[in-house]
Amino acid sequence: MTETSAGPRKLGNWIGGSWKEAAVGTGQAEVRNPATGEVLAVVPMSGRAEVEDAAAAALLAFRDWRKVPVPARARLLFRYRELLHGCRMELAAILTAENGKCLEEALGEVQRGIECVEFAAGAPTLMMGSQLPDIAGGIESGMYRYPLGVVAGITPFNFPMMVPCWMFPLAVACGNAFLLKPSEKTPLLSCRLAELFAEAGFPPGVLNVVNGSKEAVDALLEHPAIAAVSFVGSQPAAAAVHARAAAAGKRIQALAGAKNHSIVLADADLKAAASQIAAAAFGSAGQRCMACSVVAVQESAAEAFMPLLQDAAEALIVGDGARPGTPIGPLIDCGSRDRALKLLELAIRDGAALLMDGRRGEWNSDEAAFLGPTIVVEVTPDMAIWQEELFAPILCVLTVPDLKAGIALANRSRYANGACLFTDSAAAVREFREEMDAGMLGVNLGVPAPMAFFPFSGAKSSFYGDLHANGRDGVEFYTRKKMVTARY
Ligand code: NAD
Repeated sequence: MTETSAGPRKLGNWIGGSWKEAAVGTGQAEVRNPATGEVLAVVPMSGRAEVEDAAAAALLAFRDWRKVPVPARARLLFRYRELLHGCRMELAAILTAENGKCLEEALGEVQRGIECVEFAAGAPTLMMGSQLPDIAGGIESGMYRYPLGVVAGITPFNFPMMVPCWMFPLAVACGNAFLLKPSEKTPLLSCRLAELFAEAGFPPGVLNVVNGSKEAVDALLEHPAIAAVSFVGSQPAAAAVHARAAAAGKRIQALAGAKNHSIVLADADLKAAASQIAAAAFGSAGQRCMACSVVAVQESAAEAFMPLLQDAAEALIVGDGARPGTPIGPLIDCGSRDRALKLLELAIRDGAALLMDGRRGEWNSDEAAFLGPTIVVEVTPDMAIWQEELFAPILCVLTVPDLKAGIALANRSRYANGACLFTDSAAAVREFREEMDAGMLGVNLGVPAPMAFFPFSGAKSSFYGDLHANGRDGVEFYTRKKMVTARY
């Protein structure tokens, strides 16, 4: 990363353990602070040449890295963990500046990322195989795990720390070399993660960062040295990347968009439910893949619940997330805000009504895209606002007669990332667990957050592939197995 006295930082690509400028003539884009419009950096739109360089560096590094004893790899991860922990305030500040989420959320995200490194540091246990001493008389059989080779990761703007950390720490713990292509909207944190990775003592080329967008992704998907791809992003991009990677014979996991429902039953603690749902719907300006975007309230509870929800939403302050006590930052850019507002306006035209309108003029400008908490009622499932992921602080409310109807409504969505139930009934919790399509379920909480040690289990159009990110699924994804059957 180079710094110029005359303007914003000019990012390069982290290849083979140092910063390299992209080829002359490569396009570039600005990285802006979404709260202020300040240009933080200029990022190259790398293409085939840069991906070629990074893949070659990764392939070279892999030859030795795969032979480094697993406990030695784990010790480097312990060192990396300490460095990340020591730099957590710096990392959170970068995150808030490039993504817009408030500092408290950013710190929470940094912690989630660190937990992934902690999980990966368990590599000696995670990489173990298994044996059966007698599969036949005097014959034994054993399973051994090996890395795949060079693995690529493509990540979204909304979790610049956590999502890359779902990928590269575990992949390198398993003995792979990694090529990360972060979001072009939030590349700064990945760049810092790469520098700290080198500082921890990992050999050059084990982690490489190529900045860019679709062109770089296309080059990754076509590169014969890349054995597997982890993708996290929007549904159309996930579906396309999955299809292309699979057609090229690569292992692929593609985590996609969401339309998460919360069901509130009359026997729930309604005040707690309202506060949890407001935080889940409007926190990070609704730009979480686990955001609550629809709440289905049991009819008999609606009259009591709606004022509580409105109160909880009204208490949330909107502004620059770098200012303490400002939980709702801006959307990532004006295009995202305008797309969400278009769907909102369509819904109003078709009969939906606003209980709370976050379109406050004074927050918005051509440079920054704020939207306050917005609650839409009279929503029906034939409206695009119910069907599409908005990725904005807009919450749709519907009423349902009972749990069965709430589950049926949520299961009509083509997405199945997460769903939450608010209730005091164990039987209702069981029915919810058994019948919901979504893979990440929450009970009496707003965000069933993904944890490093369990798989992030989205389904339907929220996930393309077989093995999920994180946990044992992650280990399976980043390793191949050999079976040895022996008679001595
Ligand atoms: P995005 O799809 O625009 O971009 C994600 C990554 O893919 C970026 O690195 C981008 O450069 C690249 N990309 C974009 N379009 C591409 C294309 N056509 N072909 C190949 N690569 C492409 O997503 P985003 O706006 O950065 O992130 C928000 C989305 O990510 C939301 O839909 C959110 O739900 C989803 N998300 C999902 C999870 C999950 O775990 N399921 C987690 C975080 C975010």
